[in-house]
Amino acid sequence: MALIVLVGIGIWKTSGRVDADRVAVVRQCDRVMGTDCRLIAVVPYGREATAEDALERAEAMLRALESRLSTWIADSEVSNLNAAPAGKLVPLSEGSIEILRAAQRAWQQTGGAFDITCGPLVQLWRRAGRRGVLPGQSEIHEARKASHWKLIELTDTGAVKHSAAARVDIDGIAKGYAIDRAADILRKAGLRGGLVEIGGDLVCFGQPPEGKTWPLGVKDPRGQGKLATLRLRDEAVCTSGDYERFIEIAGKRYHHIIDPRTGRPADAVPSVTVVAADAMTADVWATALSVLGPEGLRRLPEGVEAMVVVGTADDRRIFCSRGFLQRLEERPDRIEVVE
Ligand code: AMP
Ligand code: MG
Repeated sequence: MALIVLVGIGIWKTSGRVDADRVAVVRQCDRVMGTDCRLIAVVPYGREATAEDALERAEAMLRALESRLSTWIADSEVSNLNAAPAGKLVPLSEGSIEILRAAQRAWQQTGGAFDITCGPLVQLWRRAGRRGVLPGQSEIHEARKASHWKLIELTDTGAVKHSAAARVDIDGIAKGYAIDRAADILRKAGLRGGLVEIGGDLVCFGQPPEGKTWPLGVKDPRGQGKLATLRLRDEAVCTSGDYERFIEIAGKRYHHIIDPRTGRPADAVPSVTVVAADAMTADVWATALSVLGPEGLRRLPEGVEAMVVVGTADDRRIFCSRGFLQRLEERPDRIEVVE
């Protein structure tokens, strides 16, 4: 079996031969949260059935969460909230409330850079991209007025909007949350190790198929191949970048991440990669640093490490936190530690 794991943030390859005492079972899942997904379970030889069972349950969890959380599914809980009139309590499951609360904390922690209430602004710029026409000042002004946490109130059982126009967009955090829940299932299944990856964001734990740490390539945002290789054991990695998803208007490329301070697309930070104990935290900070740029590295809380790539392919600069550098296999050219 040739085992090739494409981790979106890069390419991780190993041959089918694994260490003598363990085997890796890989499950490819098509179209989860709009992208591809890979699950890996590492078990002793002869325990492949345990691995397969755990992987199947982890995939089922991802699909169940997607149907509840996706803003792309018309009758998901989040879509129901977005469609609701002002003043109506929209019932939400525990998991959805947990995400919304985490998102609210992230808004505070990141000084407002991470803001899921930017739904109206995200929609405005998406529509502008489809039409190929920049939004006008007054449209941006209207969308900004509808994009604020004061318009969304969380209760123990659901959420209430204080304006019909308010919308949450949880795309910047939901994938991380889902990865964590799937990883919980694998962790409890008695495996030697495992990995859950959706579109390049991932959690890895325990033993990798070979060696002691999981080698994870960070993709070069402006070229082919990889920029660096991370070596992780029990951690999560998430990447935000402008190279896969972006808006194009009149030949100019705009980031799909909105700067809540201006109501406009964030100034191009081509790529941000974040390592944290859990994927939800890494996901939040990858989005937030796309807004904050390298300066945001000074705001990182304890236990969160990151790398920010700026500039063009010919004139690229890389900034990272000390802990991020320590997790790299080799020091890339032109990397600067921000403390
Ligand atoms: P990610 O790829 O995790 O960085 O998430 C990006 C997505 O989050 C965007 O496509 C929007 O749907 C949403 N988003 C855009 N701007 C923000 C922001 N400032 N804070 C939180 N979510 C955002
Ligand atoms: Mg994110």
